[in-house]
Amino acid sequence: MPDDELAPEKLLKIDYTPPKKSWLEPTVEFRKGTYCYSTPAKHLEYLGLPNPREWRPYEEDWKLPENWKETILAGMKDRLKKYRSFQLFMDICVRCGACADKCHFFIGSGDPKNMPVLRAELLRSVYRKYFTLGGKLFGKFAGARELTEDVLKEWFYYFYQCTECRRCSVFCPYGIDTCEITMMARELLDSVGCNINWILDPAAKCYRTGNHLGVPPHAFKPTMEAAIEEVEEITGIKVEAPINRKGAEVLFVAPSADYFAMPHWFTLLGYLMLFHEIGLDYTWSAYASEGGNFGLFHSAELTKRLNAMIYAEAERQGVKWVLGGECGHMWRVLHQYMDTFNGPADFMEEPVSPITGTKFENAKSTKMVHICEFTADLINNHKLKLDPSRNDKWKVTFHDSCNPVRAMGLIEEPRYIIKNVCNSFYEMPENTIKERTFCCGSGAGLGPDENIEMRLRGGLPRVNAVKYVHKKYGVNLMACICAIDKASFPPLFEYWLPGMEVAGIHELVGNALVMKGEKERTTDLRGESLKETGEEGDV
Ligand code: SF4
Ligand code: SF4
Repeated sequence: MPDDELAPEKLLKIDYTPPKKSWLEPTVEFRKGTYCYSTPAKHLEYLGLPNPREWRPYEEDWKLPENWKETILAGMKDRLKKYRSFQLFMDICVRCGACADKCHFFIGSGDPKNMPVLRAELLRSVYRKYFTLGGKLFGKFAGARELTEDVLKEWFYYFYQCTECRRCSVFCPYGIDTCEITMMARELLDSVGCNINWILDPAAKCYRTGNHLGVPPHAFKPTMEAAIEEVEEITGIKVEAPINRKGAEVLFVAPSADYFAMPHWFTLLGYLMLFHEIGLDYTWSAYASEGGNFGLFHSAELTKRLNAMIYAEAERQGVKWVLGGECGHMWRVLHQYMDTFNGPADFMEEPVSPITGTKFENAKSTKMVHICEFTADLINNHKLKLDPSRNDKWKVTFHDSCNPVRAMGLIEEPRYIIKNVCNSFYEMPENTIKERTFCCGSGAGLGPDENIEMRLRGGLPRVNAVKYVHKKYGVNLMACICAIDKASFPPLFEYWLPGMEVAGIHELVGNALVMKGEKERTTDLRGESLKETGEEGDV
C-alpha cells in the first residue's frame, strides 16, 4: 500500500493558504503522482492527430510545432464563433466564488488553481488578451496574459486535473459549466499534440477492435461463454448471450469493463440473468462492443467518431431500439450529443418495453434506453420475482455517478431498484448526492496509476461521505452505475476506507432475481456464501 510519501496522514494535511505569487504567473511542477503521461506518437499517428512525437510533460522541451501559438489562437477564435456557450462562459463570470469550494480537486488538494473559477481563468486570461479590447489595452490589470509555453504547460496540468464532472456548474448562479471550458482547453492542447495516453490509448484500441480494452471479436465470444458458465454454476440455468444476431428486437451495449474487469463482471452476470428471465429478444455486438466513449475526454470529433459505431451496428443488425448498460460518460454522450452527432436514427422505432408495453418517450429521438429505466419499469409492473434477503449481507449506499445524474437526470430509478432488491439502503448526506454528488476523482481520463496522488485527493470528499454512512449505519457496500466508478473506487477505499466494497446495481438485481427453474442458490454472484450476514459496524 502507500509508501511514506503517500501516507494518508500526509495527504490529509491539506494547506489552503493561497500562494503569495500572483495567479497570473504560470507555475507548474510536474510532480510524480499528480499528472498523467503523454500520448506516444504511435497512437497519435493511428488516430490521425496532430504533432505525433515522443515527449514528457516534465521535460523542458515539449517539441511543439513552430506555429503552436498561432494554431491555438486560431483554434480559440474558431471555437468562440462555433460555440455560443464558450463565448458566453468566457464573458459572464463575475468571479463571485460560489463555485470555488465545490470542486473535489480543490477540496482534496488546497491548490487554488483547482477552484473551478480559477481553472477557467487560466484560459479566460488568454481570451482577454487576444479577444477583448480591455485585455489588449490594459493587460494584466484587466486579468489578461500572453500565451506562452509556461501558460500552455499550466493548461495541460490543470485541465487534466478536472474530471469534467460538472459539480461546479450546479452551484454557479450563471450556469457556467467549467467542464465545457475544460473540453475546449483540451481540444486546443490537442491541436498542438499535447494530450494524455490514458485517453488516446483506449480510443485507438476502440478504433481497432470496437472497445477500449482492445478485446477482439474472437476473445469477446469466449468471455461471454465464461460468463454463461458462471451463471449456470450459481443458478443451474444455462442463459444465452447472442452476439451479432441480425433481426433481434434490441441491441444491448455495455462498457467493455463489464465483461473484463472486477467488480464489473458481476454486473454482466446480472444482465445475462435478467435478459434470460424476461425472455428478451436481444443481441450483443462484437463491433459496437463498447458503450463508453473516451473520445469525450479529448474532442467533439473523436467523440462523434466513436459514438457512430452504436447506430451503425444498430442499423446493420436491424434492431428496433438500443438498450445501454451501466456506464457513466456513455450516457452523457448519448443524452446530450448522440442525436446531433449521428442522428436522427430514423431506421429504428420509439423504444417500447416488449415485456410491459411501456413507451420510453424520453428516448423517442435517440432510440436508446438506460438499463436502470428498463429494470425499474419491470419491477414497477411486477414482472420480476425478487428475494431481497439474498443481499442481506450488504448495507448499501448509492453513489450518483456524475454523468447519469447531472447529464441525464437519472436519480430515482437506481434508488427504486436498490430498494426493491436490498433490505438495507442508506443515503449519504444530502449535499453529496443527486445533482450535488461528488465525483470519484478518476473520470475524464484521469484514472491511470501514475496519477494516483491526485486521484486519492480528488476522491476524498466522496469517500468522506461514504465513511459517514459506514460509521453511522454500518454501510459496507457502495452501489454505482458507472464503469469508471467501479474501477476507481476499490483502490480509493483500500486507501481511505478499507473493507468497503463496490458493486453495480445489476449485480444486486442478479442476486435477488428468483429465476424460473433455478436450483437452490448457495452463493451470491461473487461466489460467496449466501448464509453470511453483515453485523452492524463489522466492516
Ligand atoms: S460561480 Fe459562476 S460566476 Fe461565480 S465565480 Fe464560479 S463560474 Fe464565475
Ligand atoms: S467540472 Fe468538476 S472537476 Fe472540473 S472544475 Fe468543475 S467540479 Fe472541478
